[in-house]
Amino acid sequence: MRDMVDSQLVSRGIKNPQVLQAMRDINRSLFVPEPEKAFSFDDTPLSIGWGQTISQPYIVAYMTEKLQLKSTHRVLEIGTGSGYQAAVLSELVSQVFSIEKIPELASKARINLNANNFENITIKEDDGYSGWEKHAPFDAIIVTAAAPFVPEPLMNQLNEGGRMIIPLGPERGTQYLVQICRNNKTYIRQRLIPVRFVPFLSRNF
Ligand code: SAH
Repeated sequence: MRDMVDSQLVSRGIKNPQVLQAMRDINRSLFVPEPEKAFSFDDTPLSIGWGQTISQPYIVAYMTEKLQLKSTHRVLEIGTGSGYQAAVLSELVSQVFSIEKIPELASKARINLNANNFENITIKEDDGYSGWEKHAPFDAIIVTAAAPFVPEPLMNQLNEGGRMIIPLGPERGTQYLVQICRNNKTYIRQRLIPVRFVPFLSRNF
């Protein structure tokens, strides 16, 4: 894991010490299913079943760093998947809320996170398009599936001064990570790096 952090993250410019520490502390192999275990620390996304993937470690670190998290923050994730990104976030903030559309993945992630004593993560099985009004506003929102546009409810559930990071673009073709900062009722967008994510599955798109 030390090697993963140094050779994949530090070498590519990830600097935030808390993010690097969280990536050192949290064992990615806990979130990788049996057939893929041998590749747990590889520089690549891996299959987690149901056509979904656990993201490449660098992308997890990059998105987490961009959120500029504080220990008091409450964060919303759309796309729990394996629960790995949620686990990394949970070490950096006070509360993580995560929504997963595929029931089997939501339940597997919940069981795995509980078994490994991640206590500040709450998972809901639902379409994340509508966010989680009950717990809004969020200081940070991270979307881990590619959408054609930013769902309006997520914009509304972002706190003043909050940040969102979301992959935007078509399922096949070029997607970009986009960062959105909310400031005095305005939203400032910035296009970051090209990426390849699984699609955001919603009836609203
Ligand atoms: N963050 C995950 C990677 C997730 S892959 C990890 O650390 O492992 C993207 C996930 O988004 C998949 O599990 C997929 O089922 C989920 N997803 C896709 N569309 C969704 C939607 N509308 N609402 C919630 N989850 C969704």
